[in-house]
Parts: sequence; structure tokens; C-alpha cells
Amino acid sequence: MKTVLNYINGQWREDIATEYLDVINPASQEVLARTPLCAASVVDEAARAAATAYPAWRNTPPADRIQPLFKLKMLMETHLDELARTITLENGKIYSESVGEMRRAIENVEVACGIPTLMMGDILEDVAAGIDEFMIRQPVGVVATIAPFNFPGMIPFWYLPYALACGNTYIVKPSERVPLTMMKVFELIEQCGFPPGVVNMVHGGVDVVNAILDHPTIRGVTFVGSTAVAKHVYSRASAHGKRVQAQGGAKNPTIILPDAEVDMTTKIIADSAFGCAGQRCLATSLVFTVGKADEIFIPALAEAAHNRVTGFGLDDGVQMGPVITHAAKTRIEGLIGKGIAEGAEVVVDGRGKTVGGYEGGSFVHPTLLCGLNPHGEMMRTEIFGPVLGMVHLDTVEDAIALVNSGQYGNMACLFTSSGAAARKFRHDADAGNIGINIGVAAPMAYFPFSGWKDSFFGTLHGQGKHAVEFFTQTKVVVERWPKDWSRQF
Ligand code: NAD
Repeated sequence: MKTVLNYINGQWREDIATEYLDVINPASQEVLARTPLCAASVVDEAARAAATAYPAWRNTPPADRIQPLFKLKMLMETHLDELARTITLENGKIYSESVGEMRRAIENVEVACGIPTLMMGDILEDVAAGIDEFMIRQPVGVVATIAPFNFPGMIPFWYLPYALACGNTYIVKPSERVPLTMMKVFELIEQCGFPPGVVNMVHGGVDVVNAILDHPTIRGVTFVGSTAVAKHVYSRASAHGKRVQAQGGAKNPTIILPDAEVDMTTKIIADSAFGCAGQRCLATSLVFTVGKADEIFIPALAEAAHNRVTGFGLDDGVQMGPVITHAAKTRIEGLIGKGIAEGAEVVVDGRGKTVGGYEGGSFVHPTLLCGLNPHGEMMRTEIFGPVLGMVHLDTVEDAIALVNSGQYGNMACLFTSSGAAARKFRHDADAGNIGINIGVAAPMAYFPFSGWKDSFFGTLHGQGKHAVEFFTQTKVVVERWPKDWSRQF
């Protein structure tokens, strides 16, 4: 069986591990490869290679550092289909979603190619007589990213192109469940002309993560995953004095007002809740209807859930793929049962269903629950599956208060035709990404991928200028020269 390879110091390596994890196509259950759960010593080798490569890379002019990134952008465009198919095979999302994911990855490379402008510092002349002061940005050193399973191609690209363009050397650890997309990406990276050691990849699980967090040479860590692990990463890495940002889980609420446009709202919310089988950190998980909106939108969303075609993401006409594993399916179905036990009505029940031709697949069909118990577990727990829960409220104020009572703050959305309601909502809602008549408020690569409360630990986020700030340290220079310059000659 194919073993997933590490990429260290410009070399592919098969590192022997004591444990391996099968990479499984969640629709067909075919075993695609196996991931070595590497030992801490492999991280040490990658960190040493990155540290050795750092001085020359950091002294390479920014305009030269971006030349391999331009090449990478072109290669990712040329190999888009292959990359997208790999995502669908190992993650399960449908082909068009995989293409969309890779497009956002490419967009981040494009933004990072602007680094000669993005890294410019500030200067103030004559802060005192004959004295100038200026701030320059320099790279941090060796930095690393730890990624989750749900966006195998895109999430490493919130960081990788910026870290490299800023002059850092870099290590990525993909999710052990979906390592094949980044393997393909590294086959392209290999052709781009990065010097050995500048960009490295190590595979593994907890031991590799903890080795990254503890390694004295690694100066910065970015993490995306569940909140429990994000908290662990944030506290352990910062205890070692590293700069760290950690994106966590989510439970995203959407308010629908009675004046929302029916067809558009229904389609967009169904796409948000059931797209990527609900395994998006920006998936709508809760809908709060206000006024008479429930009378229209419960039947409309029920129809959308019922009609969504579930299956293997490379088959024609399929609108939703499986969830990542059978363990995830069991967990999600258990949570649906819990919601019903807590008093919710199941309007569309996606439990216990199969897909013809893929009977062994880990499929959960779209599920709609109404009248969630506002104090129940379904209101709080991230389900990470195609399950939408609804609650009815009398006023916009009540709905915003319920949005703000949540533990997470990744995204909150509002559907309305009222500009005044939209303004109030975007001002008052406690979330880092806001959608107004948008179901997945994913920021373009020029903006930070925001996130508040238990969805984020740190200060600077991934993407755009935030990533440039995260991957650079500022140096302030105060400089005096004699006023009488002619004296020097
Ligand atoms: P996860 O937390 O299980 O794993 C993420 C990474 O952490 C993986 O690389 C894994 O190897 C490692 N890891 C797992 N358990 C660990 C442990 N105990 N100690 C050290 N390392 C550990 O997350 P996942 O299941 O891969 O991804 C889904 C989660 O990611 C969801 O909660 C989702 O909301 C979140 N997510 C958040 C964002 C965001 O921007 N906020 C984006 C995507 C996904």
C-alpha cells in the first residue's frame, strides 16, 4: 500500500513509524494510502533543515523570493483538476467544492506575491532635530502550520505562501486523515525552485504536533482545528515563548427576518448548512427565525434538505458528500437523537440512510430539526455534519441576544431586506465573520480569516496583511546624522 511521504530538506522520505493511519475514501471506504504517525525526531530533522536554510532565504530579496510562488500559482492552475479530485477522494466533499477550495488556496498565493509592497515599513523623518525613525519588518525564523481535515488544500495556504514570501522557512503538518492533497501540492512545490529546507512537510498526529509546539528552533505556530486542541496548542506553544495563532471550532447562527427574499435565502442557507456535508467551520448550524419567518422558512428549508442529492462527490448530479469517518457519522447521528430527546421536532431525518452503490460509505443525509431547546446540547455543541437546528423568536433583539450568548464567534449571518436591521446586526453581533444575505462569509485572501471567542486564540489571523504581520517582526531604528553633511568629505 502507498505510504505517505515526508518532504524534508528538498527530499522525499519514507520515515518508518510505529503507527500508521489509513487514509480512506469516505464514500467507497477504499483505503487510498497510509499515513505514518511520525516520531518527534522527524520534526527535529525538519526544524534543523529549515534553520539551516533560513539565513540565505531571509537574505534573498523579496522580489526574488516570490518567483517560486509565481511558478507555484501557475502549476496549481494547471493541476487544478487533479488537486480537486484528490480532495474529493480523501475528504469526501463534492468536486465543485474541491475546485472552490483550491481556487481560494491559489488566491492566497497571488496575494502573497505582493510581498514587496506588503512588507514595506514606515518612516518618520525629523522625529527630533536631525533624527529619523523608521520601522522595518523582518521574518521571524522557522515557522510551522498544523492543519485540520476539512480543507486539506486551502487551509495550509492561509499561511504557507505568506510565511515563505516574508522570508521565513516553513514546516507544514497536514491532517493525518487527508495528507494526499498536500502530497500533490509538494510535487508542484518541488518544481518551483525553492532552495532545500525552505519548505518542508511532516506527517503525523499528536506526537508531531507536540514536537512542533516544544521545538526551540520553531519560532511561530499557526493552528486550525477543534477548540479543545486549539487551546492546547495556544497555551503550550506560547509557554515556550512562540508567537501563535489558533483557530478553533464553531457553532454558527443565522437570523432570518420575515422580509428576507425567500428563494435566495433558502438556497444560500441550505448550501451553507449542507455544503461540504456541514464540515465547514463557516457552516450555518443554527437558524433563528423572527416574526412570521418560521411559517415560510421551515417548509422551504425542509424541502431543500429533503431534495439534496447525497452521494460520491465525483459522480454527476451529487450535491453533498459523506462525512469524514464512520465515527463522525455515529457521533452526528447521536447528537440528532439527543436534540430530539431534548424536545426538538425532526422535520427531515438524515439518519440511518445509505447511498446506492456506496452502501458502506459514511453518509449522513441532510437533517432539519425545529424547536430546539434553547438550553439543550444542540444549541451549544459543534455538530460538524449536515444538521440544521431552528429556533423561533419574537424580536430581532432576542435573536441577536441568542447569537451573542454562544460560546463561539466564528460567523453570524442575517437575511433581510432592511438596511437598518443589517446595520444593527453587523454592529451588535459578536462574531469575527459577518454575513448579510451571505451564508458562508469566508473572507477573500486580502482580508484576515477572522474569528472571535472560543473560535480563535491569538491576535493576528491568517491570510492577507494579518499573515504578513504574524510572519514578520518589527524593528524600529532611530538614526542621527550630523546636520553639516559636508563635514564628512
Ligand atoms: P482536530 O482538532 O481534531 O485536528 C486538527 C489538527 O490537530 C490535526 O492536524 C491533528 O493531527 C491535530 N490534533 C488532533 N488532536 C490533537 C491532540 N490531542 N493534541 C495535539 N494535536 C492534535 O480538528 P479536525 O477534526 O481535523 O478539524 C475539524 C475542526 O476544525 C472543527 O472543529 C472545525 O470547526 C475546525 N476548523 C476551524 C476553522 C477556523 O477557521 N476556525 C477552519 C477549519 C476547521
